[in-house]
Amino acid sequence: MILVLLGPPGAGKGTQATRLSEVFGLEHLSSGDVLRAERKSGTDLGQRVASYMDAGELVPDEIIIEVILARVLKAAEGSGVLLDGFPRTAAQAQKLDESLEAAGGGVDLVVSLVVPDEPIVARITGRRSCPTCGSVYHIASLPPKAEGVCDKDGTALVQRSDDTEEVVAQRLAAYHAQTEPLEAYYREQGLLAEVDGTQDIDAVFVQSREVVRSRVGKVGS
Ligand code: AMP
Repeated sequence: MILVLLGPPGAGKGTQATRLSEVFGLEHLSSGDVLRAERKSGTDLGQRVASYMDAGELVPDEIIIEVILARVLKAAEGSGVLLDGFPRTAAQAQKLDESLEAAGGGVDLVVSLVVPDEPIVARITGRRSCPTCGSVYHIASLPPKAEGVCDKDGTALVQRSDDTEEVVAQRLAAYHAQTEPLEAYYREQGLLAEVDGTQDIDAVFVQSREVVRSRVGKVGS
C-alpha cells in the first residue's frame, strides 16, 4: 500500500504517520526527516538544502525528487510506504505517479489532515523533538513525562530551527501556494480522504485509521 499524508505544517502529519505506519506495517518515509539527517551528517546535499529549509521555503523539485523517489520505489516493493511531506508540489506528485505507474502501481490513498491557519503557529512553536529517536512532543498538548526530556531515551528535547514564528509564516505561505493544490489533484483521481485535524490526537488517529482500513478493504476486494 502507498499512502500519502497531506496537510499544512503543524497539522500533525508526523505524529499520525508514526502511528499509522505502525498499525499498517508501512515504512514511514518523512522527507523532512531525510533532509534533516543529511544536514546533521554535513553532507553536500545537507548543505545545499539548508538555506531553503531555514527560510521556510520548499527545496527545489529536482533535488527532492532525486533524494526521495528512489527511497519511495524501494519501500513500495516491500510492505508499503507512508509518505509524510512528499509530494509537496504538482511536479513532485506527477513524477511520483509516473514512477509508480512504470513500476505497475500507484498511490492507494491520500489522507489530508485539515487544519485552518489560526492554530498552526501555537502548534508549531510549542513543538519539541528528540534528536536521538525523533519522537515529537508539544509543550501544551503532548508534554513529555519529565519536562524537556524524551520519554523513550531521556535525551534533552530540542526545537527545530524552522519552528519559529517568523519561519512558520513562510512555511504556511509555501503550503498554500504549492501544496494545497494537490488536494484537487488527488480528489480528481478519487483518492482524497479528508480528516478534521483540529480534533485531539487520538480522534484524528482513529478517524484516519478507519479511512485507511475501508480503503484497504476495497483494494483487497
Ligand atoms: P517538514 O519536516 O515536512 O516540515 O519539512 C521541513 C522542510 O524540509 C520544509 O519546510 C522544506 O524546506 C523541506 N522539505 C521537506 N519535504 C519537502 C518536499 N517534498 N519538497 C520540498 N521541500 C521539502
